[in-house]
Amino acid sequence: MSLPLLPLTVPLGGEKLSRQEKIDRLAKMDADEVKGCTRCRLSETRTHTVFGEGDPDAKIFFIGEGPGENEDLQGRPFVGRAGDLLNKMIAGMGLRREEVFIANIVKCRPPGNRQPAPDEVETCTPYLVRQLEIIRPPVIVTLGLPAAKYMLESKLSMGRLRGVWHNWRGIKLMPTFHPAYLLRAYTEENRATVWSDLKKVMAEIGLPIPARTR
Ligand code: URA
Repeated sequence: MSLPLLPLTVPLGGEKLSRQEKIDRLAKMDADEVKGCTRCRLSETRTHTVFGEGDPDAKIFFIGEGPGENEDLQGRPFVGRAGDLLNKMIAGMGLRREEVFIANIVKCRPPGNRQPAPDEVETCTPYLVRQLEIIRPPVIVTLGLPAAKYMLESKLSMGRLRGVWHNWRGIKLMPTFHPAYLLRAYTEENRATVWSDLKKVMAEIGLPIPARTR
């Protein structure tokens, strides 16, 4: 039986926490629950779980799809080629990777890098929601369609979802392309599209936008 999802308009639960409380709660969830998780079949083929990492007071929380081969081997999100491009996107915003938080909708690698199955997403995402309750970022950026679809409970295409602000339980959410897609289709147009989405995020959190690309 699947639980009904909370309406996207219901404000996020949980309490406001100090930086240290956030660090402690995230570390405890990872150590006590995620690292040894066997709630779904992805646990049978993973090398490491990938909890997510970054600043517990991050202003931006990036959500990808799921760990790939490099992430599975290292236990860290976005450390392969897509990660290199995500790092560049973050640097382009004038931030360091350590200043944002990065996680995925599932914490274990789907074999062969297939998309996570609906039941795997349903089983795993309570961890992500709890991470969001702890961190309470002002902005979420979803990378790629699976993350946007899950967060927004939407069947719309990426073309319809990206580039505009959505509300996820009181947090502003901006969908954009996944860096792995961008690597496959590294066109001027796609790069400009992502940059235009990221500039909206920068404006929202008060980051200066370089004059020539304003
Ligand atoms: N792609 C993702 O969606 N997440 C990662 O962590 C790495 C690649």
